[in-house]
Amino acid sequence: MLRSLQMQTTPPLPGRDAALFLDFDGTLVAIAETPEAVEVPAGLVPLLIELHELLGGALAVVSGRPIDVLDRFLAPLRLPAAGEHGVQRRDADGRMQEAAAPDLTGVLEAANALASRHAGLLVERKHAAVALHYRMAPALEQLCLDTMAEVIGTQPQFELLHGKCVVEIKPAGVNKGIAIDAFLKEAPFEGRHPVFAGDDTTDETGFAVVQSRPGGMGIKIGPGSTRASQRLEGPQAVHAWLQSLRDALVHS
Ligand SMILES: [Mg+2]
Repeated sequence: MLRSLQMQTTPPLPGRDAALFLDFDGTLVAIAETPEAVEVPAGLVPLLIELHELLGGALAVVSGRPIDVLDRFLAPLRLPAAGEHGVQRRDADGRMQEAAAPDLTGVLEAANALASRHAGLLVERKHAAVALHYRMAPALEQLCLDTMAEVIGTQPQFELLHGKCVVEIKPAGVNKGIAIDAFLKEAPFEGRHPVFAGDDTTDETGFAVVQSRPGGMGIKIGPGSTRASQRLEGPQAVHAWLQSLRDALVHS
């Protein structure tokens, strides 16, 4: 009997010499109607605290969210983190680095003008980026894309990111892959086998970086084409896998 082509294997569990990079939305927490409405499941923060310890501090969150927002959701935990797709980065010693914010006045005006004309759009002003969310109005995807693409035109300081139900204008020259690469040049991440789990197209640069390293592994969360070598179904499967990893590391 033929095996189902859809049968999925669970990603192998890395050892204590791994460096773990985790996206937040759609990976650690289920995506909600609005960015503020996500719920951090009970047990997640204690599990991350244990893993951070078991991996010698080599655990970081790599997200499109600002770092202060990640801290609020994961309190009292303050992990090494890359925020706003790498615009901000907090290293293992708690030192913050931030890329200079480009002038976003025109971008913000265009996003707000569109949101005032159409119900269901949500504008999120970040430190160095503007995100236009259309999860509650998915039919407006193309309009959001066209509007944001038009406002930045060919200005080289900006880059348009198209994630899940969000169009975002961020500074050019930063992405999750570059942020992960920066962590891998520093203790305690340096020399470890990097693992990165993420659910969105914006995570592909991260998969490329970790998989270019010895023993590196990308884990795509959910459906969709990807360069990641491994896959997990969704945040619940991520939690189960992290729990298995915790158990394995405790007994190793
Ligand atoms: Mg995500």
